[in-house]
Amino acid sequence: MTRHDWTKEEILAIYNKPLMSLLYEAATVHRQHHDPNKVQVSTLLSIKTGGCPEDCGYCPQAARYHTDIEGNDLMSVSQVKAQALRAKSSGSSRVCMGAAWRNVKDGEEFDNVLEMVRTINKLDMEVCCTLGMVTENQAKRLAEAGLYAYNHNLDSSEEYYKEVISTRGYEDRLETIDNVRKTNVTVCSGGIIGMGESIDDRAGMLVALATLNPQPESVPINALVPVEGTPLEEQQKVSIWEMIRMVATTRIVMPETQVRLSAGRTDMSKEGQAMCFFAGANSIFAGDKLLTTPNPDVNEDMELFKTLGLEPQKPFEKKSQPKTVEAEQSFYKPLGEKPKWSRPGHKIERNEEAKLKAKVAK
Ligand code: SF4
Repeated sequence: MTRHDWTKEEILAIYNKPLMSLLYEAATVHRQHHDPNKVQVSTLLSIKTGGCPEDCGYCPQAARYHTDIEGNDLMSVSQVKAQALRAKSSGSSRVCMGAAWRNVKDGEEFDNVLEMVRTINKLDMEVCCTLGMVTENQAKRLAEAGLYAYNHNLDSSEEYYKEVISTRGYEDRLETIDNVRKTNVTVCSGGIIGMGESIDDRAGMLVALATLNPQPESVPINALVPVEGTPLEEQQKVSIWEMIRMVATTRIVMPETQVRLSAGRTDMSKEGQAMCFFAGANSIFAGDKLLTTPNPDVNEDMELFKTLGLEPQKPFEKKSQPKTVEAEQSFYKPLGEKPKWSRPGHKIERNEEAKLKAKVAK
């Protein structure tokens, strides 16, 4: 039975178990709820890159920092379709489209994204979007277009979140997840380790996710990839042991969830990844880029799958395919809402420094 009343103390006790006991427990839970030889493969597509107004300290797409990523405007529907077909032919069951926006705004660009959702759903692939905060009506429009999942990460514990981001509040993250829950779109929400947070913060983030009812259907666990020019450029990379502990703990407290190995996989050995799969990870991002950070080559992934006897999960194995309603038949119309998402605006020293450095560099 899935529990929704996890406490931080309980989660810390799991995280800090002797590693072999932790692995054994996580692998047992994994086998009780999933086929341990199946891994869901997603392709992440950056449909609008860079120029983001937010100040997330880990992100090279924030306009205020000086990084060498190449920005691009919203891709066209035909470009997205071509990329989705490529992803499908290389074994992905899901396309996750990411746009560097603070929140979704009704209008032409969102209409285009809705058309992208319709197009990919018609290719019989799961479609996920990560577009920032959404209102209930916008979530319903995405659902109507055939969206399978919406990603909105909590990033860290509520306490540590304030040390990384000042332009939006944790409660808005939760409200967006809540808005998505008012539809039949599944929720994908996880976080990043290696941003300088404590183990307590990692447990705090897992409490926030595991006490959601229902729990998110997907939980991506990212290891920070420090990018030059961002406030977190000097963070030390996390060790594989921390990653394994985080994956195993996530698996135990969220038994039904698909736990996804996300950013940071290029720094992991094949043996390290295998241990993560054993500890309960059952989803990866494929493709040579994760929005803007590097990712292992698809062929390398498929070779690793072969070595480990893993098989890519077919689309809609966990939940049936949503129906697509065409734009003309749509029941939910744009409301032109202007929601007041919060902007706490507190000072984060290292974010300020990175912004100043960027100004000097420009
Ligand atoms: S993580 Fe998303 S919201 Fe934050 S700066 Fe990057 S693109 Fe913007």
